[in-house]
Amino acid sequence: MKKQVTLIPGDGIGPEVVGAAVRIIEAAGAQIEWERCDAGAEVFKKGDPTGVPAETVRSIQRTGVVLKGPLETPVGFGEASANVTLRKLFELYANIRPVRELPGVPTVFSGRNIDLVVVRENVEDLYAGIEHMQTPGVAQCLKLMSDKGCEKIVRLAFELARAEGRKSVHCATKANIMKLTEGLLKRTFERIAPEYPGIKAEHIIIDNCAHQLVRFPEQFEVIVTSNMNGDILSDLTSGLVGGLGFAPSSNIGDGAVMFEAVHGSAPNIAGKNLANPTALTLSAVMLLRHLGYIEQAWVVENAVLHTLEEGKALTGDVAGERIAATTSAFTEAVINNLGRNPTRWKVREQKPLTLPKPPARVATVSPKSRRTVGVDVFIEADVQPEVLGPALEQAVAGAALALKIISNRGVKVFPLGATRPDCVDHYRCRFFPRAKGDEVSDEAIADLVKRIGAAHRWMHVEKLQEFDGKAGFTKGQGED
Ligand code: NAP
Repeated sequence: MKKQVTLIPGDGIGPEVVGAAVRIIEAAGAQIEWERCDAGAEVFKKGDPTGVPAETVRSIQRTGVVLKGPLETPVGFGEASANVTLRKLFELYANIRPVRELPGVPTVFSGRNIDLVVVRENVEDLYAGIEHMQTPGVAQCLKLMSDKGCEKIVRLAFELARAEGRKSVHCATKANIMKLTEGLLKRTFERIAPEYPGIKAEHIIIDNCAHQLVRFPEQFEVIVTSNMNGDILSDLTSGLVGGLGFAPSSNIGDGAVMFEAVHGSAPNIAGKNLANPTALTLSAVMLLRHLGYIEQAWVVENAVLHTLEEGKALTGDVAGERIAATTSAFTEAVINNLGRNPTRWKVREQKPLTLPKPPARVATVSPKSRRTVGVDVFIEADVQPEVLGPALEQAVAGAALALKIISNRGVKVFPLGATRPDCVDHYRCRFFPRAKGDEVSDEAIADLVKRIGAAHRWMHVEKLQEFDGKAGFTKGQGED
């Protein structure tokens, strides 16, 4: 019986590379019934602000599997990126981006056997898209990371390592600076790693990871990381093996899985029969494995590797001095090579990937105890901190809470230390109970905000909480 897959040809070079991949996998004997659907630029132009029509959403709900070409993010019309819409609609929480050295694709790393996967968290972090102008001149973007989100991505990284027979997983974070958000990913990684005793687990600071990747990329096998870090790192890793024309990916969700190339719609070469379809074809190989067409996946991957190694029909991005082949000529060459293997390269043996199954309920962590111990009030003010501090102390005289410190973009400015930072009109004012050890009530916070609001412009209030006796907030730089 044919397996149903939603097919989104996409924008720019999308229809050319998707068409090539479909021809190749059908020629390899994969029995697939395609549901062709729209998304992207043309949909935006018809006035749908999501870029993803309802029929496309219904098709994905039905099939649960998508092969997708790149979607243009239009500038000047349309609300959001259609890619982000798809990712969020179907909670595609993991973006898996494998890269490996390829035959016939020379790079400065040729011969070093790069073969690694970036596992990027795909829905949380700064990409949750929660942004505010807190003052006319100061913007804020919320970096939200959850215990459940971290657990899902970390488990997936270890399961992937296990399925692909890989021996190590690195967790790359900026936990040294963002101790609560990035630190949550690190702590989750350290908690789960012992469940996978055969796999070496190592934490690495993200900036060092980038540095190590361009110096000794062969040391990495699987790198699990947060959304924005993974976005940047995985484009870097694509560059290590020959560029965007060679980088496939999959987006994994609990209810749907989507396969696509890492590259975009490349409008400069669209419609010219010049695009390299390798990335999309290798994404289709990942799709075949997901559908259980293991033999066909094997045959197609070997044919692609053989065609690249042979070097008779290479697209312009890799042809070098040779005459470049068109997209169609490369596709024909791969089809003719079905059944042939490269001489030196081996396709990696893979077992089916076991996806983590989180409970469907709303994720919650229940501490044994919790207390509100203080409050941060964010104030817009165009005065220096030594003026603002005493004015605030006066405004809250008699309240249950007293001013402890004021910081400006994270640096303590009141009471003033040895140096004066260059302030902007956005102050974080931290209050604790006058009676030490008292819990802070909502009434006390309301009273505080009322007193402050009578004389100052506040825009945000944040409770300072302790969970199981541990502070759920960081100290400002310079705060004791
Ligand atoms: P891009 O489309 O990836 O293209 C950047 C450059 O990479 C191209 O100009 C081309 O360079 C080369 N390239 C990319 N794919 C290639 C292929 N298959 N074969 C040969 N060369 C290839 O990035 P962009 O120009 O920044 O983005 C264009 C549009 O795509 C934007 O609207 C963006 O939002 C969208 N986008 C979509 C996705 C997605 O759907 N997942 C991902 C990224 C970007 P040369 O020909 O100059 O060498």
